[in-house]
Amino acid sequence: EIKKAAEESEEAVVIGGGLLGIDLAVAFAENGADTHYLIRGSNWWSRGLDEEGAGIIHDKLEDLGVNVVTDTEASDFISEDGEVTKVVSEGGEAFSCDNVAIAIGQTPNSEIVDVEKTDGGLIQVDEFLRTSDEDIYAAGNMVEYYSPVFEERTVKGSWDHSDAMGERAGKNMVAESSEERKAFDYVNTYGVGHFTTQFLAIGDWTGEPVSKKHDENHYRRLYFKDDRIVGAVMIGYTRGQEQLKEMIKDKEEFDDREALLEKSYWE
Ligand SMILES: Cc1cc2nc3c(=O)[nH]c(=O)nc-3n(C[C@H](O)[C@H](O)[C@H](O)COP(=O)(O)OP(=O)(O)OC[C@H]3O[C@@H](n4cnc5c(N)ncnc54)[C@H](O)[C@@H]3O)c2cc1C
Repeated sequence: EIKKAAEESEEAVVIGGGLLGIDLAVAFAENGADTHYLIRGSNWWSRGLDEEGAGIIHDKLEDLGVNVVTDTEASDFISEDGEVTKVVSEGGEAFSCDNVAIAIGQTPNSEIVDVEKTDGGLIQVDEFLRTSDEDIYAAGNMVEYYSPVFEERTVKGSWDHSDAMGERAGKNMVAESSEERKAFDYVNTYGVGHFTTQFLAIGDWTGEPVSKKHDENHYRRLYFKDDRIVGAVMIGYTRGQEQLKEMIKDKEEFDDREALLEKSYWE
């Protein structure tokens, strides 16, 4: 249905400056719709990127014909004869459209299982992915677990992570002894591959960042907690991604954080 809507649309509004909103903005633009992409923050994916890094992504979107509109919160829809015709921002600006695509977060559909959950409905598990009912394990986007890598309770949403989590939950469920049961110590990755310039986010995007824009297509941002490296965002220059995942998993500490931003470190 999204494909059909994108193919038929002449002018679209996409709401949500996150990892999924960008997919929708690209889908509408690539199918020829004049696309207004409304981002509430000052740049795309402000959770993990500063304006300098996101600027590279904005340029790529604009090359595809997307109108990137930052600092803009959608607040109202206007329709005629049951069809949406405009999205109005908090500031009163109106964006004409025949289609609206929204990617502003998700709500867990977890009523099916009666185990301990967060206030927001996420299923809670331990590091072995076991819920408060020892016969029930859980994996995926709607699960909050204790990560021995990040040493905190966390929720991660990506294909590779959910896949690995499901596999670990399954193995732990059929484990015949507690020694066979293993903690889930995966380091997640999320990629956006729409542009010739690859975007890759690894690990935890909170903590203290250092970043460097090498040129119009290459940027790297690294996240630290104390001196430990916990996450990375790469644009264009993705060399060393597996090594970085190992560093995060091994809890490596670095005094000279800036040195890791240089390409020479990874060559
Ligand atoms: C538009 C979009 C683009 C994305 N792009 C990327 C990307 O580029 N890279 C990336 O890494 N991740 C991406 N993701 C995120 C990725 O899809 C999720 O992280 C991943 O699918 C989560 O896996 P999951 O198993 O938790 O949930 P899901 O993949 O949603 O699977 C849950 C399944 O459970 C089924 N189900 C629900 N309730 C019941 C029930 N009561 N009984 C039986 N079955 C039930 C559902 O039908 C569904 O099949 C994207 C997500 C979206 C929505």
